[in-house]
Amino acid sequence: MAQTPNIPVARPQLSARERELVLDCVDSAWISSLGRHILEFERSFAQFCGAGYGVATSNGTTALHLALAALGVGPGDEVLVPSLTFVATAASVAYTGARPVFLDSERATYNLDPALIDQAVTPRTKGIIAVHVYGHPANMAPILEAAEAHGLWVVEDAAEAHGAWVDMPGRGWRRVGGLAKAACFSFYGNKIITTGEGGMVLTDDEALVARLRLLRDHGMDPKRPYWHPVVGYNYRMTNLQAALGVAQMERIEDILAHKAAIAAQYNERLAGQAGLRRPPAEPWARPVNWLYSLLVEPEFPLSRDDLRLFLLSQGVDSRPFFTPLHLLPPYHSGQSLPVAEDLARRGISLPSGPAITPAEIDQVCRALVKAAETKA
Ligand SMILES: *Cc1c(COP(=O)(O)O)cnc(C)c1O
Repeated sequence: MAQTPNIPVARPQLSARERELVLDCVDSAWISSLGRHILEFERSFAQFCGAGYGVATSNGTTALHLALAALGVGPGDEVLVPSLTFVATAASVAYTGARPVFLDSERATYNLDPALIDQAVTPRTKGIIAVHVYGHPANMAPILEAAEAHGLWVVEDAAEAHGAWVDMPGRGWRRVGGLAKAACFSFYGNKIITTGEGGMVLTDDEALVARLRLLRDHGMDPKRPYWHPVVGYNYRMTNLQAALGVAQMERIEDILAHKAAIAAQYNERLAGQAGLRRPPAEPWARPVNWLYSLLVEPEFPLSRDDLRLFLLSQGVDSRPFFTPLHLLPPYHSGQSLPVAEDLARRGISLPSGPAITPAEIDQVCRALVKAAETKA
């Protein structure tokens, strides 16, 4: 048993404002998927990301599926995705009947390696999902360039990177979520801002917005009640969820500043620590450290898995990196993707949620230093 209080990897931080807006829904009985908070949340989040329109959804996975469905992805199609991501990126492709085709990661960002796109494209390839994993943006400029050369769209899976910036050649510093054909976000409880469960698709394309809204609401013609020209879904967000989102958006800059301070404290404390490689930060990116994620180098006395057990004995929770999706039963491709596999073996995410305190980070760092001093 841990002797010290357990420090979880992430817990949401809610304020009096979230409480006030949620109670407003309850008091007014606007608790379903009509209500003023939904439009307000869509507007404020799209504007924050520099995108034209937002379409709120029930969660991040439905946002991804909705975007792919609205783009017309279906059986026989292929979509390029990184192998090192949360499973929902690939599941959303599978829901459409299309096949996810897995690409290896680049070491510098942990994200999809743009140099591998050309050789993976076939006549069936329709597009690319670029994931900004653990809060560091994917290398969007070469990804968009390769996509354009092959006539493919790009969808950002920005579920882990709300507020991150990319220096785009010729466009300047832009927030993720406004860089490609569409972008999908999650507002799950451990994400940078949360609505409990929730998601959103962002895009500048008005025709795509209409298609997203149609498919989100049972495929019902907005001008003709109970006329359904297509098979749709119920992927709507509730006003209750959106109330949380509106309140979170009012202080997202503070939340991001706190995330930056968390990363800075970890970076400073672990600077001299041999065997632990700090999270990526490319010169063209300003990551948001969704989860502060280290690599355990071979010279560290403990393996990643033994380090996780040691941390737990000190009351500190952690997460291993995602299992590369090409190794999971439903997606097993027989490929060898060495960078993704190596990162997945050595990667560990430390407690870094918006509610963590400096004293807790200090406790995590002391546990890491103690681990480094143990003999293998
Ligand atoms: C969290 C996450 C999702 C899915 O979001 P849910 O809201 O949990 O459905 C999709 N992609 C990535 C990369 C994620 O981290």
